[in-house]
Amino acid sequence: MDCPYCSNPTSRVTDKRKSPEGIRRRRECLKCKKRFTTYEKIERGDLYVIKKDGKRERFDRKKLEAGIEKAFEKRPVAKEKISKMIDEIEEKIRSKGKKEIKSSTIGGLVMKKIKKLDNVAYIRFASVYRDFQDVKDFRKGLRGL
Ligand SMILES: [Zn+2]
Repeated sequence: MDCPYCSNPTSRVTDKRKSPEGIRRRRECLKCKKRFTTYEKIERGDLYVIKKDGKRERFDRKKLEAGIEKAFEKRPVAKEKISKMIDEIEEKIRSKGKKEIKSSTIGGLVMKKIKKLDNVAYIRFASVYRDFQDVKDFRKGLRGL
């Protein structure tokens, strides 16, 4: 990214922040020392979920959110914590760089994350999420209640 003031191509990054929209970088031009901001968009290519029955479905964050939020209904967990968790899950799914992902892979990922936050939500999610494969983990979760 060339400096917008003097077109010098070299700059140094002074600050880097991740957001769901992309990576935001504060840069300082090495020539004129002026500062500017750049955004690196996260690739939002099509991602398909392969369901247990073999059907393909476009990945839908809203759907994932709805399922997770339902599991946390009336639980004493801050909403920001939940949405941060969903961000992390989506980032992890997309960072694999694949065009397709098994629903069971997503399920496993979600289970792991939920477990760290709340046991009851974990059990709820597991009981709804029929694709959940690791039954042993599920039983362990039940015993932990
Ligand atoms: Zn410059």
